[in-house]
Amino acid sequence: MGSGEDTSRKAVVLLSGGLDSTTVAAWLAREGWKIHALSVDYGQRHAVELSAARRLAARLGVAEHLVLPLDLRGIGGSALTADRPVPKEADPLAPVAAGIPDTYVPARNTILLALALALAEARGAGAIGIGVNALDYSGYPDCRPEFVAAFAELARLATREGVEGRPVRILAPLQHLRKAEILTLARRLGVPVAETVSCYDPDPGGGACGGCDACRLRARAERELAAPVEVAVDAGGSGPRAEARLSGRPVGWAALRADPAGDWRLEILEVAPEARDLGAAPRLLRALQRFAGTGSIRVAAAAAEPEVLRSCGFRPAGRGWRWQGPPPAALPLDG
Ligand code: ZN
Repeated sequence: MGSGEDTSRKAVVLLSGGLDSTTVAAWLAREGWKIHALSVDYGQRHAVELSAARRLAARLGVAEHLVLPLDLRGIGGSALTADRPVPKEADPLAPVAAGIPDTYVPARNTILLALALALAEARGAGAIGIGVNALDYSGYPDCRPEFVAAFAELARLATREGVEGRPVRILAPLQHLRKAEILTLARRLGVPVAETVSCYDPDPGGGACGGCDACRLRARAERELAAPVEVAVDAGGSGPRAEARLSGRPVGWAALRADPAGDWRLEILEVAPEARDLGAAPRLLRALQRFAGTGSIRVAAAAAEPEVLRSCGFRPAGRGWRWQGPPPAALPLDG
């Protein structure tokens, strides 16, 4: 685009019609970006997503909403694009299993970001917004921060804008947020959450199935936000200590100690049975992460459940787990 054009406040946003992508679009709009929404009709079994995307784009007042047909059913290889069942659990609050599930669409985010990059260059947009999330998610490899960073490098190398020193930025503000944090952000931004469609297998009217990974992640987040668990941190003498209270009663504790290597070490993480399904454990860890700031926290393998650690951004390291700060701002709005 002409070098005199201001590209800094135009953004292409990949809008699927789900909660995450709509929240990214609403956040960027709130930050003053002019939004060019891009939805791809790739033959997804949940076509009601696209109707939701159209409605939400109109609600957000985007400058443009492009729905691009690109049928990926010829490639198949996923429960979303082939005649294969979407995996479901009977218990609507069952955790999401580790590993890459059958709803993974081969190379989907690579394809979608390539299309967004082309649109960004054509429209002279300086950024691409995408709602990927690497904490409460289905384990798709193309949702990880490494993937987003690698694509940003590709965008720098692949385009005229990049070669001329104005690479298109990839904005993925939700990637380090827990689902409950995303839902909080969406509500604060005024996103019509009930109109978003995140379910992998909704009925023709858009009703959620209740059993797929996406439905269960949202149900767990909603339950966590509805529970009156309060978490407070006390700096303490030898390390910070966090306490969770449910209706005023203590129901969980977590504490850090400094170790000789300069890391923090998780000394205790205990949650009473009645608070276990209310997000108390990840919220205690989040509070300690904020205290640790740019430091790092080590956790012995047996000290906490892998699911809880993963959902707070910890990664396997040696015989246990490790997290490296800084923590995400509680919400992009705050940071
Ligand atoms: Zn579902």
